[in-house]
Amino acid sequence: MPVYENTKLILEGIGSTTLVCVTKTIEPERINEAIRAGARIIGENRVREYEDKCKDILPCETHLIGHLQTNKVKKAVHLFDVIQSVDSLKVIRNINEKAGAIDKVQKVFLQVNIGNEPQKYGFGPDEIKKVITEVRSLGNVRVEGLMCIPPFVPPEQTRSYFRKMKTLFDEMKQENRDNIDIRELSMGMSNDYGIAIEEGATMVRVGSAIFGEREY
Ligand SMILES: *Cc1c(COP(=O)(O)O)cnc(C)c1O
Repeated sequence: MPVYENTKLILEGIGSTTLVCVTKTIEPERINEAIRAGARIIGENRVREYEDKCKDILPCETHLIGHLQTNKVKKAVHLFDVIQSVDSLKVIRNINEKAGAIDKVQKVFLQVNIGNEPQKYGFGPDEIKKVITEVRSLGNVRVEGLMCIPPFVPPEQTRSYFRKMKTLFDEMKQENRDNIDIRELSMGMSNDYGIAIEEGATMVRVGSAIFGEREY
């Protein structure tokens, strides 16, 4: 797959929307092609995988987009500029503690389980406001966005979930505090990022449209 060309085309197509180039399972050489083509942010799902690869990846901003286990929080805080996949109060308190220990203010997004699916990670849409109240007291995290992975349905049917996210996002943006400044709405992947942008995404997370189908 022509990674360089794919990245250029997607960057042109999305205009002012921010691209997170999703690099799970991809080798550093190919990741670097995307960075040379203009990708500024990469998204990884696994802390260990990224730790193994990072020394070979060109300078860029790094986002964690996969579920974070408690025993990996310390490493994640060292390695990632933004943790998009914050999905419980327990993990956000833990991030606050580990970030405090190294004098870092960790940027995070809250992951919303917008379809209320029992098997999925993330806060329920109704929980988010309560979560924000709790977060106000945490000095070493800064909430800068919302992230979602909608139910696995045909692309056009994701639109209603994206729309719900946008409504929630607009409500949350009113909640400006020292450590809460919600300005990013991270939604949309290879098969539906165009729809996500139409519905107000500020950031899309695209993997296979850049690198081709992943081989696990
Ligand atoms: C893998 C992944 C993506 C990218 O998926 P593609 O369909 O390859 O674009 C986006 N977000 C998350 C959370 C992912 O795990």
